[in-house]
Amino acid sequence: MEEKTSKKTYPVLNPATGKFIGEIIETPLEQVTGYYQYARKVFPVWRKTALADRINYLRQLRLYIVNHLDELAYKISENTGKVTVEALNAEILTILDTIKYIEKHAQRALQKRKMPTPLFLFGKKSYIEYKPRGVVLVISPWNYPFQLAMIPVISALVAGNTVILKTSEVTPLIGTIIAEIFKNIKLPAGVVQVVHGGKELGAALVKGKPDYIFFTGSVHVGKKIQAEAAQELIPTTLELGGKDPMLVFADASLDRAVKAAVWGAFTNSGQVCMSIERLYVQRKIYPQFIEKLQQETKKLKLGFSEDDDIGSITLPGQIDIIKAHVEDALSKGGKLLTGQLPKDWDTKKGLYIAPMIIIDIKQNMKIIQEEFFGPILPVIPFDTEEEVIRLANDSVYGLHASVWSANTQRAKQIATELIFGNIVINDVIISAANPHLPFGGTKYSGIGHYHGETGLQMFCYPTAVVWDRGRKKTELHWYPYKGKYPLFASLIQNYFGKRIHWLNVIKSITRLLKK
Ligand code: NAD
Repeated sequence: MEEKTSKKTYPVLNPATGKFIGEIIETPLEQVTGYYQYARKVFPVWRKTALADRINYLRQLRLYIVNHLDELAYKISENTGKVTVEALNAEILTILDTIKYIEKHAQRALQKRKMPTPLFLFGKKSYIEYKPRGVVLVISPWNYPFQLAMIPVISALVAGNTVILKTSEVTPLIGTIIAEIFKNIKLPAGVVQVVHGGKELGAALVKGKPDYIFFTGSVHVGKKIQAEAAQELIPTTLELGGKDPMLVFADASLDRAVKAAVWGAFTNSGQVCMSIERLYVQRKIYPQFIEKLQQETKKLKLGFSEDDDIGSITLPGQIDIIKAHVEDALSKGGKLLTGQLPKDWDTKKGLYIAPMIIIDIKQNMKIIQEEFFGPILPVIPFDTEEEVIRLANDSVYGLHASVWSANTQRAKQIATELIFGNIVINDVIISAANPHLPFGGTKYSGIGHYHGETGLQMFCYPTAVVWDRGRKKTELHWYPYKGKYPLFASLIQNYFGKRIHWLNVIKSITRLLKK
C-alpha cells in the first residue's frame, strides 16, 4: 500500500539531544482493511516462492545491513537515545546472527519431515508438512526496536507468510528504516508492509483478523491482545515483561560478577526485558560486593558519544515509573548508594538518569515485585540456596535469570529449580543472543517461544499426513467386527504387556486378516 501525504504527521525527536530527526506519517485506521487485503493477495505467490529463494532474500538483507552498518547503528541510536555500541551489538549483530542461522537451518526446519508409523498402522507411512499460516501481524516495542521487529518479521517471511509490521510509536523512524531496507533489497512488494501508529492502530490491526499475532511488549497490552485474539481463536506468541534476578554465591568470581551486574542492570539504561532488576548476593561476600559495585558504577559515563556507556532513556514517561519505584523503596527504608532520584526533565539535555544502586531492600517492595525498566539495581543479601531459589521464584514474571557460582554443578542444579524461560550461568542476558536456542518466558513473561527451529516452525501450521498405497481391500479395524474383539484384546495384551510376545502378536494379526 502506498502512503499518501494527506495523512496525519508528527515530528520525531532524538531523546538524547531533543533534536528534530524526522517526521512520521501515521497510517489511518481506515486503511487497515486495505493492508490485509494486499497481504492476502500477495500471500499465495510468496508461499509458492521456493524456500531457497526466500532464504536468498535474507542473504541480501544480511549483506545490505553489513554494508550500511554505521548508518544503521547511528539511526537506531538517534531514534532511541542508546549509545552506538549498544545499537551495533544488541540490535544489529543479533539480527545478523539470526539471518546466518536461518540461511543454514531453515531448509531442515521447514522441509517435510518423515515420521515413524506404529505397528498398528502397518503398511502406512507418515510425515509432517509445515505450511505458512498466511498473514502474520508483528507488533513490536521501543526498547530494541530494530531487533525485536526484524527477527519475527524475517522468521515469518522465510516460512512463507506475508507480514504486517507495526513498530512502536515511541521509535517510529525504525519502521521507516525497515520498510526502506526491504525495498532496497527488492523484496517483492506486499511481503512485508510496515504501518505507523500507536495503540489505536495496534488494536485495529489485531481486530483485522490476522492468521497469527507475534507481540512483544508489556504484560498489560499482551493480555488485551490475547483476549481479543481469543474471540477469533487467533494463535499468538507473547513476549512480555521481566523482573530478572541475578543470584550470586560466595564462591563466584567476584570481579566478574560485579562487572556483569553493572552491565546487566544498566545496559540500554536498564530498558531491557532481561535487565537485572533484582540482585541477590550471598551474605558472606555482600560487603565486598557492594563496595566493588559502587566503584564500577561510578566509572560509567553518560552521554551520546561513541565512547559513552549509558545512553538516554528512550521514553520520557519511563521517568515517572522509575521515580515512583525509587521513592517507594526509599520511603520504606531503602538506601541509595549511587545516582539520585531523577528530577524533572529538560528534554534538550537528554533524558539521562545516573545509575542507581539501592540497598536495604525487602522482597515485598514494589521495586522487587514490579518491572521498572530503568537504570536501578536493588540488592538483597541471602544466606542459603533454598532461600535464594524461593526469592527468585517469588515473582509473577519468569523471563530470564542468572546464577553465579564456581561450582557449575550446583549452578545447573539451581537452574533446574528456577521457573524461568531462559537462564544463564556465570554470565548475564546473553541467552537471547544464541539463535539456536528457543526464547520465551514463563508466567506473566509470556506465551510461546521464538528463535531456533521453534522460531521458524511456529509461523507454520504443521499438517500431519499418514499415507497408504491403497492396494489392500480393507483394514483390520474396519467392519465387520464379528469375532474381532478377542483377537484385538490378545494382540494388545501380547504387544503392550511386560514383554512383547511376537509369536502371539503375529498369530493374532494373521487371524484378524482372515476375518
Ligand atoms: P507496550 O506494550 O506499551 O507497547 C508495545 C507495542 O504494542 C507498541 O507497538 C504499541 O503501540 C502496541 N500497542 C499498545 N497498545 C496496544 C493495543 N491495545 N493493541 C495492540 N497493540 C498495542 O510495550 P513497550 O512499552 O513498547 O515495551 C516495553 C515492554 O516490553 C516492557 O514490559 C518489556 O519488558 C517488554 N519487552 C519484552 C521483551 C521480550 O522479549 N519478552 C522484549 C522487549 C520488551
